[in-house]
Amino acid sequence: MTLDSSLMPTYSPAPVTFVSGRGTELWDDQGKRYLDFLSGLAVCSLGHSHPAVAEALCRQAGTLLHVSNLYSNAVAPQLARRLDRLVGDGQPAGGKVFFANSGAEANECAIKLARRWAGPGRHVVISAYGSFHGRTLATLHATGQPSKHEAFQPLPEGFRHVAWAEPAALEEAIDPSVAAVLLEPIQGEGGINPAPRGYLAAVRRICDERGALLIMDEVQTGLGRTGRWFGFQHDGVTPDVVTMAKALGNGVPIGACWARAEVADAFRPSDHATTFGGQPLAASAALATLEVMEAEGVCGRAEERGRTLSDGLSRLSGVKEVRGRGLLLAAVLEAAVSADVAAAALRRGLVVNAVAPDALRLAPPLLVTDEEIAEAIALLSDALDEVGRG
Ligand code: PLP
Repeated sequence: MTLDSSLMPTYSPAPVTFVSGRGTELWDDQGKRYLDFLSGLAVCSLGHSHPAVAEALCRQAGTLLHVSNLYSNAVAPQLARRLDRLVGDGQPAGGKVFFANSGAEANECAIKLARRWAGPGRHVVISAYGSFHGRTLATLHATGQPSKHEAFQPLPEGFRHVAWAEPAALEEAIDPSVAAVLLEPIQGEGGINPAPRGYLAAVRRICDERGALLIMDEVQTGLGRTGRWFGFQHDGVTPDVVTMAKALGNGVPIGACWARAEVADAFRPSDHATTFGGQPLAASAALATLEVMEAEGVCGRAEERGRTLSDGLSRLSGVKEVRGRGLLLAAVLEAAVSADVAAAALRRGLVVNAVAPDALRLAPPLLVTDEEIAEAIALLSDALDEVGRG
């Protein structure tokens, strides 16, 4: 375990130092090979060092890295139009995009936009217990995990939490002070909890009745991972605002907040800004990522390979249930030993993480092969055996 004393101790000491990666494979500083079934936490959906992304970065770095948002650049609008078409599942959705640098920042934009759209006196954002929306002060308060709030009180005012997957709880909590409801289609950090069928449609109906916006946080679920471009598309609902980040740059930091035009137009110049947002370098990486994603048909692959992975996991002894969708899965264990199993898997060369005391998260690249899935299942089986044997 290493913890570099020059870094703030916000992360636990790291068991491994990775130095290179290609596709689903990673290598550490001792030359040991690993299969990455976490993709940098659902970030490297095309795998590590994808040549098209590397080429786009090199080309753009040699052309124009950055200009201020006081001026326009040629890449960000192209990327915005492409994202708008993905939000519309292949058709223009008629929305506009703000580019940020992370998931939390994309959500900050959505929260500010909701307040601007709703006007004075209607500023509350409702989210669900068990959710995760980021670590800035506002997104931390939106995150429905009170234990994460304690050390940082007082948090910004204007956030309320309701029971996940209970439309009646939302109906009761939503009053005229509410500007928006913010939900993940599958709670990721909360343990891979998919919205039960009909829940998001019920939320949409309640938002329409009460005049609140529906914001979908697709930071972890977005861009093909669940088998559709966005998780909400499984439920046939149309959100007002969609946030995304992680997979968008395949490892290059970029976030985005999409909103339908009437909502987006509530912002006025200088209401919101960020120095690096939409800069040519990150936008080029994202454009290349989306081009490869579309060419490779990542949604279909995620669905198909997700079925193979899910079948393999559910056959392992020690696994009592598999939750999730596409290639965002949790293997729920019979005992609360996920941290031990993840550590044993890592020693064998498989990267997964303990997303709950009794659940492992698996989120491999969407281009993962059947052979890699078979290898990962065998490694996990050995890890489960080791922990089971004590
Ligand atoms: N929203 C969701 C659903 C997430 O899973 C995450 C990160 O895990 C975030 C927001 C925050 O994103 P970031 O860490 O890029 O700020």
